[in-house]
Amino acid sequence: MADEPRPPRQTAQLSLGKELVGLAKSLGATFSEALKPSMTVQYPEDKTPRSERYRGRHYLRRYDNGLERCIGCELCAAACPVGCILVIASENTPEHRVSPGERHAKVYEINMLRCIFCGYCEEACPVQAIVLGPEYELADDSREKFIYTKEMLLEPDPREVVKEVDGAGSKA
Ligand code: SF4
Ligand code: SF4
Repeated sequence: MADEPRPPRQTAQLSLGKELVGLAKSLGATFSEALKPSMTVQYPEDKTPRSERYRGRHYLRRYDNGLERCIGCELCAAACPVGCILVIASENTPEHRVSPGERHAKVYEINMLRCIFCGYCEEACPVQAIVLGPEYELADDSREKFIYTKEMLLEPDPREVVKEVDGAGSKA
């Protein structure tokens, strides 16, 4: 036998009961959050740690002997889905050796306004030259400043860094 339809008064009571239960749950959630300790971070003085897999600003790396890792192969530019990398390669010579390979990047630029931080360039690079670091404070005040040149991307020569650290240590 089919269920008898509920009288309108009973239906309204059930609906009101459900809404009261929902309201009580919402208030419970609000009060339990209000009693938790504050999680405010005093940015920019304090910063929350980035995940190890975070992909931020790019860097061009060097070997320990100071040579640039980039061999100008353009695989990163080919892999970039938005076409924001420009690489112009040049030959290394015995008098002017920049990288261990036959060629090096004479020009290396990334248009950071177009970059979507997907990390494909890093994955495509055969010598781990281009990497995405943890830095995320990239705001600036003109479009031109978002074209990151090779000079901006290249990490310092490790030999110079060691000299500076040694110099600072001997002065202390
Ligand atoms: S992170 Fe992605 S979008 Fe940005 S330069 Fe690399 S490949 Fe291109
Ligand atoms: S960064 Fe890597 S993939 Fe890009 S040109 Fe240099 S060596 Fe090739």
